[in-house]
Amino acid sequence: MRLAGKVALISGAAKGQGEAEARLFVSEGARVVIGDVLQDEGRQLAAALGPGAAFVPLDVRREEDWAAAVAETGRRFGRLDILVNNAGIFHKTPSESASAADYMRIIEINQLGVFLGMKHAVGLMKQTGGSIVNISSIAGLRGAPNYAAYVASKFAVRGMTKVAAIDFAAYNIRVNSVHPGLIDTDMIRAERSPESIRNFTSTQLVDRPGTAQDVASLVLFLASDESAFCTGAEFVCDGGLMTGSR
Ligand code: NAD
Repeated sequence: MRLAGKVALISGAAKGQGEAEARLFVSEGARVVIGDVLQDEGRQLAAALGPGAAFVPLDVRREEDWAAAVAETGRRFGRLDILVNNAGIFHKTPSESASAADYMRIIEINQLGVFLGMKHAVGLMKQTGGSIVNISSIAGLRGAPNYAAYVASKFAVRGMTKVAAIDFAAYNIRVNSVHPGLIDTDMIRAERSPESIRNFTSTQLVDRPGTAQDVASLVLFLASDESAFCTGAEFVCDGGLMTGSR
């Protein structure tokens, strides 16, 4: 039980990687608050996970939602040890043609949402110390054609992780970023054909899409005390994609 006694708040946890993290955290002894704009899916997941889980409606762009989510976490479970800033969206925003509105929509969810999550969680987290895990991407480490806003948002998450690691060190709060490669969730299925997924993964050292569980295992390590000496760092989970092709 690597998270016994701990309480976690996970954004975007109604499905995909966030759901896998919520399930794994509960199985490791944590109590988990699932925050998402998908209210039906989030409530169903919380009910399936039992009394150690709760759902809060959370649009990560909204300060008042974050304040309410943290307050509800405190009321329900009395503390907050772990924040996973996982919510995100993925759409093309070509550099020559994307509208300002399309660009800003991604920035507001993927970038501002992470900042607001940390800002609002820290007050409760500093009572116990803890761990913040910010989900960036390999797109936070290198460019990707046609994804100007997504790449910008994920680079920003990587950068603000380092600032928060410094700012929150005095509270015994560690902050790290996770950089998944291609992970088989609805996000990727909506943007890429099966053929394009095969072409992408064939250049990797591990020739398959990652799973939500692959990422959740890494997030569990960073959330737990097993990673007590890790802060301000970048953790890649990409089947070796960033290393180079075979
Ligand atoms: P997903 O689409 O399955 O899940 C994303 C979740 O975020 C959903 O539950 C969605 O409702 C929620 N969400 C979206 N907008 C929100 C908002 N405004 N407020 C609250 N919740 C919101 O995708 P996923 O693959 O599980 O993505 C999780 C994270 O991993 C994202 O930050 C994504 O950018 C990142 N990521 C994904 C991949 C991949 O290949 N799937 C790769 C690298 C990084």
